[in-house]
Amino acid sequence: MPFLPPSWVPQLPFDPPETITVHDFLLDENYGRHPLGYSHNPFTCGLTGKTYTALEVRERVDWLARGLAQELGFQPNTGTEWDKVIAVFSVNTIDTLPLAWATHRLGGLQSPANAAYSAAELEYQLKNCGAKALFTCIPLLETARAAAKKTGIPDNRIYILDVPEQVTGGKRAPKGMKTVDDFINEGKKLDRLEPLNWAPGDGAKKTAFLCYSSGTSGLPKGVMISHRNVIANTMQIGTFEKPYRDTIINDLRNQTDYIEYALGLLPMSHIYGLVVICHANIYRGDGVIVLPKFEFASTLQAIQDYKISTLFLVPPIIILMTKNPQLLAKYDLSSVWSVFTGAAPLGKETAEDLNKIFPAWKIRQGYGLTETCTVVTSTSPTDIWFGSSGSILPGIECKLVTVEGAEITGYDQPGELLVKSPAVVLGYLNNDKANTETFQDGYMRTGDEAVVRKSPEGIEHVFITDRIKELIKVKGHQVAPAELEAHLLTHPAVADCAVIQVPDDAAGEIPKAFVVKSSSVGVEENDRVVAREIAKHVEKHKARYKWLAGGVEFIDEIPKSPSGKILRRFLRDKEKETRRKA
Ligand code: AMP
Repeated sequence: MPFLPPSWVPQLPFDPPETITVHDFLLDENYGRHPLGYSHNPFTCGLTGKTYTALEVRERVDWLARGLAQELGFQPNTGTEWDKVIAVFSVNTIDTLPLAWATHRLGGLQSPANAAYSAAELEYQLKNCGAKALFTCIPLLETARAAAKKTGIPDNRIYILDVPEQVTGGKRAPKGMKTVDDFINEGKKLDRLEPLNWAPGDGAKKTAFLCYSSGTSGLPKGVMISHRNVIANTMQIGTFEKPYRDTIINDLRNQTDYIEYALGLLPMSHIYGLVVICHANIYRGDGVIVLPKFEFASTLQAIQDYKISTLFLVPPIIILMTKNPQLLAKYDLSSVWSVFTGAAPLGKETAEDLNKIFPAWKIRQGYGLTETCTVVTSTSPTDIWFGSSGSILPGIECKLVTVEGAEITGYDQPGELLVKSPAVVLGYLNNDKANTETFQDGYMRTGDEAVVRKSPEGIEHVFITDRIKELIKVKGHQVAPAELEAHLLTHPAVADCAVIQVPDDAAGEIPKAFVVKSSSVGVEENDRVVAREIAKHVEKHKARYKWLAGGVEFIDEIPKSPSGKILRRFLRDKEKETRRKA
């Protein structure tokens, strides 16, 4: 089966280096446009304008690493990255990535948590990743403290990332609680750190980021993303984009030193925000305008004020835009020339609707996973096909297989997408079963169904046609059915349950629970009251995007295979049928 990047995409210029950290890669002038030696500003706060030049960022990373070394006793060449895990539970800040790079400078790793998490969800991650310290921000401090307390992380190991006053409401860090700036100021007075003494290949073995994903089934798992994984995907994206950047951008702007600004709104705790928006943009010398949270008007204001050129979005935000053209018209969005969407499918119709409002915008879609360190396929501005997730990036091999494992060799035939790439992650932390199921013969099983179609220009495009795995995507966030099911079973009214996704116009998908009532529920009890109680049980303990917005439906029995596996397809079909009749 031919399954290749478009002919105009060059090969990777060199093998992704495997002896250096992500930060070294961004610094080293042998690679890319080495922005940290370049005089632009990698991160700028989109609310306050606070920013540092690339050279200042470089210095701040170094001082921060010295300050952290003194405070936490981490030394670059002592112990492994698992002795030096720093968790981050925060909205986006201009210091989030510099903090990761400082942690890497010490031979440690960063484990970023979703800022929407409840204390219990954060506790799960903190325990699972073995965090030694936690950085949070003022609005999330109470949740962070509650989780840390249950994890055994003392209060004096909780530190603060600075966020704008618009987000803190003027609240300051409690006295005695250190901020990133405190570490930097201390670090300035400390001696230089010894260099990281990595042996060849260490960058390919050591985890740089531990993000969480439920993969094809089960609970959220720590995904071990090596330095080389991040470097590889950054190179793959950069190489894929080079041809059009060399032409379109230079033509558009008529200057070669023009700096692109990207919208840095999506969470840096998710692989899309972390790698595509931050690392890939910074690598090629673009600036990221960082926004701590999504608020429609302030996002549009930031696009106008900072002349943002590429909007990195998820489908629900695009849907919101298409439904509010009057609001869009109030802002000067003429700096925008491209929109990139990923993390969930963007419907062809939605892309067309946006295209009607902004005919000049190039609306692109990418497809990827935490487990592939993001982008596997992408459309390019010169090759847009609405509904398609694009062509594979250089240095990646893909194949489609049938349920029986036979390779599909023709166009338009659905199969599970398997990916081989230097960006495919090291695996799940302490989870042999999931690793065996997911990483096979050098390929990563995505759990997504896809077809390959040839465009009229002869380019192979991947269309994601279904999700085979047990994963719900709400506004681009992962919701693991197994996690909600385990939680629902702790409610006395629930004897058995199954959670599936149902389509939703605004969020893409939302979770719905099918529940078998336990015998403790009296026949006289009103179903609606019991259903509300069950929904409330989720609302009390889980992040908002995991709430059962699709409802609770009572059934007599959860359909299961002889081995006890929930037959979700059966429930999804039942739901489709109910909706069709409604
Ligand atoms: P995550 O690890 O949170 O990035 O989730 C990865 C999953 O999101 C993929 O396995 C897909 O199911 C889904 N996904 C990501 N991008 C797309 C896309 N462009 N179209 C359809 N599904 C997508």
